[in-house]
Amino acid sequence: MLAIAQAGEPVLKQQALQVTEFDSTLSQLAKEMLDTMLQADGVGIAAPQVHQSLAMFIIASRPNARYPDAPLIEPSVVINPQIVDRSVAKVSGEEGCLSISTRRFNILRHEWIEVRFQDLSGQAYHQTLSGFLARIFQHEYDHLQGITLFEKYDMQTQSSLNGAVQ
Ligand SMILES: [Zn+2]
Repeated sequence: MLAIAQAGEPVLKQQALQVTEFDSTLSQLAKEMLDTMLQADGVGIAAPQVHQSLAMFIIASRPNARYPDAPLIEPSVVINPQIVDRSVAKVSGEEGCLSISTRRFNILRHEWIEVRFQDLSGQAYHQTLSGFLARIFQHEYDHLQGITLFEKYDMQTQSSLNGAVQ
């Protein structure tokens, strides 16, 4: 199991670098990230969380106590993701993070997102995600921009305050 960076560590505040080498080193990192995610009982993990500033994350989903309706899918490795379109509508949901053990946050996420990404072999994908998977994808994508739930929650609170005075 790899050490998981905790909020405040510099690696979690950096913009992650694009992946250019789809080699065995990358596959090995993905495998170790998956093991770490499963041992920590997470549904997603981003490379910066294991101190690698690379544009890569794993998303997984299974029904659990907090999300009983979550779909069961095999963990997927997502590399060089882009969010190319998104719903105007946002939905609120409670989120935790392996890098923030002490708190959970109610976070607004786009209801659906249209995404592009690559897999470990470099193959390109173009998909539309909704519901719990869209939520995990947006959470992990934020990690690649150096945004944890603390920053996200502050931005959200700030914009709702601005909205209130307009
Ligand atoms: Zn997280």
